[in-house]
Formats: sequence, C-alpha cells, structure tokens
Amino acid sequence: MNRTYAALPTTFFTVMSQLAAERGAINLGQGFPEVDGPLDIREAAARATLEASNQYPPMRGLPELRQAVAAHYNVHHALDLDWSREVTITSGATEAIAAALLAFIEPGDEAVLFEPLYDAYLPMVQRAGGVPRIVRLEPPHWRFERAAIEAAFSAKTRVVVINTPLNPTGSMMSGEELSMLAELCRKHDAIIVSDEVWEHVLQDGAHFTSALNVLRDRTLKIGSAGKMFALTGWKVGFACGAPALTEQFAKAHQFLTFTTPPNLQRGAAYALGKDASFFAGMRAEMQRSRDRLVSTLAGEGFVTLPSCATYFISVDLRASGIEMGAEAFAMHAIEFGVGTIPYSIFYAGPGAPDLLRLCFAKQDETLDRGAEALIRAMHGAK
Ligand code: GLN
Repeated sequence: MNRTYAALPTTFFTVMSQLAAERGAINLGQGFPEVDGPLDIREAAARATLEASNQYPPMRGLPELRQAVAAHYNVHHALDLDWSREVTITSGATEAIAAALLAFIEPGDEAVLFEPLYDAYLPMVQRAGGVPRIVRLEPPHWRFERAAIEAAFSAKTRVVVINTPLNPTGSMMSGEELSMLAELCRKHDAIIVSDEVWEHVLQDGAHFTSALNVLRDRTLKIGSAGKMFALTGWKVGFACGAPALTEQFAKAHQFLTFTTPPNLQRGAAYALGKDASFFAGMRAEMQRSRDRLVSTLAGEGFVTLPSCATYFISVDLRASGIEMGAEAFAMHAIEFGVGTIPYSIFYAGPGAPDLLRLCFAKQDETLDRGAEALIRAMHGAK
C-alpha cells in the first residue's frame, strides 16, 4: 500500500474530537464554531435543495457561485478575478490544497513549507512526489525571515505553501513579508499556494493582504465558505488564480471530487453577497469570545501568545509554569474535561514548542467551562 498513508496516523483533530465526545469533555480542540452560521444562508441552501437542480453542477462550479466569489474578492480585497477563467469551486479548502499540490508538483520538485504547518500540507506534498523544505517560524511573532527562506529555495523549488492568517498561531503575513516571498518566487520560477481560509476571521482591527494581491500571476489563492460563514461542515472552497494555474488545477480537481453539492454552492453564492456589516459583526463577536477566554485564563496564571486572527489562541505552557510537554498535557487535560490541540501536530519533526492551541469560537458558557477544566488540569499538573 502507499507508503505516505501507511506511515500516517489519523489526523489529530479527529482523534481529539472523538476523545472529547467519548468523555463528554468540552471540545476546544478541532476548530469549528459551536453555533451554526446565519439562518438565512442555511435557508437559501435548503430552498435550493427543494427548488433547484440537484444534479451535477459544472466541474469548475456553478457560474452563479464563481461570479459571487469574483465579486466578493473584488469588494473585499480589490482583486480583479475573471470568474470564468480564474475561479474553481472545490469541496472544501483541503480538497483545493490536495488538488493544487497534485497539479503543480512533479516528482522530485521541491516545495517550501513553513512550520508550524497545517497537518494536511506535508503528506500531500509527499504524495505528489514533492521534496519538502521546511522553514521554521519562531514564537511569539512567527515572522517570515528572508535569510531562512532564501536558504530553503533552490533551483528545484516549484511550489511554496503558505497559510495566512496562520493556523495555529493566529498571526498574519505582512505586506512586506509577502513581497519578499513574491520576489523569491519570481526569481526561482515558483508558484505560491496560499491557504487563506481565515481571511475574514480577524481581530483587533487587523488588515489582511492576500498573496494574490502581491503575486497575481503565480498565486493560487484558496478560500473557504465554511470559515467565512461558520458552516465548516459544508466543505465549499474556492481556488482562485491566473488562467494557466486554474486550467492545470481543474484537471486535478476533476478527478478528486469532480464537483461540489449544488445546494451548498447556491447557499454559498447567496452568503458571499453579505455586506461589510456582517463581517464586522462576526469579527466583533469572535474578538469578544477570544478576550473572554484569554482573560479567564490569565486570571489563573496562564500565559497566552498574541494573536489577531483565526478561531485560536495559544497557551505557553512553560511560561504558565507547566513542565509536562504539550502533548502530555493535552492528554492530561482531557481527563479533566477539556479537549485541546498540542502544537506538535503542526511540526514535521521533534522540537515543537510547548504550546497548546485552544479554539474560542464557542458560547460563553462553553468557554467558561473549558477554562475551568483547564485550570483544574493545571493544578493537577503542578
Ligand atoms: N481546520 C480545522 C482545525 O484546524 C480542522 C479541520 C479538520 O479536522 N479537517 O482545527
């Protein structure tokens, strides 16, 4: 059987969600909102199920959704996408990442990745025959340093995978960092696969810049309706990039999932038309939840790292006086009633920092109960 998968455990997000469910623990592990996204969006999808076609949509996605994606990114990121040649609808961002890596990597090509890295990237690079070159980012600011990145590039570099805003850190690439990376990609004839699923989940007035704004002809930008509208189970993603990239991308996509449920595509098309006040409201709500969790934990001596995006905060266990490693503490904390994600799952090798990722996209009571369980776990660990 295929070696990449044979050597691979089940994704820890699934493992932790299952453990939390079995033990009746509060789940601050896998990143999903506790409350489903807006009713009107779900009604739009429900109506589409009853009133519109449920047969195969076009392979690249329904025109109405591709048009909505292009219009949305025009309004929100000042992008000028041609919906018919530069947008493909996928069954979630994970499918888009897989299709992109399969489409762009030739066996033996090198792919530059950044640690901490989302758990799907490395196995998919390897499955595509790529050779990973991993650059490690350092806490607490997770900056993209030119010297380290330049050292990871070679004549064989074809793809660079970035995630901005970055899961699990909740940090974001600056315009300068993106420009520096764009320059290296031009010089080495490389493509950026930019996982931007958290683009709207921002806090503290953070301003997001897409890699597509900086490297228009060599970036495949990946977005997610699930993350934008708190409907993570929908698995509706968007891959956007120059016609030559889209052409090649769609050939991989056509034999992975081929297409995506039409009712959910119609629901997503409706949702993308939401105005700025919707996104502002979502951000304010997320920020309030983050601040609630951070301040409850800080009151008990937990130290958290700065963050300005995603559903996640990171607890610095050592700075919080907890000596057991993050993995051991995550297994310990589940016994006290809370599921969390240790940073080690975002690292290919040893030496991950002892940080714990917590998802704050939850209701107040859940956050409070999760924090209480974590505090009990802390006392039980000292
Ligand atoms: N993106 C989610 C997270 O980071 C996980 C999604 C999944 O489990 N596939 O928690």
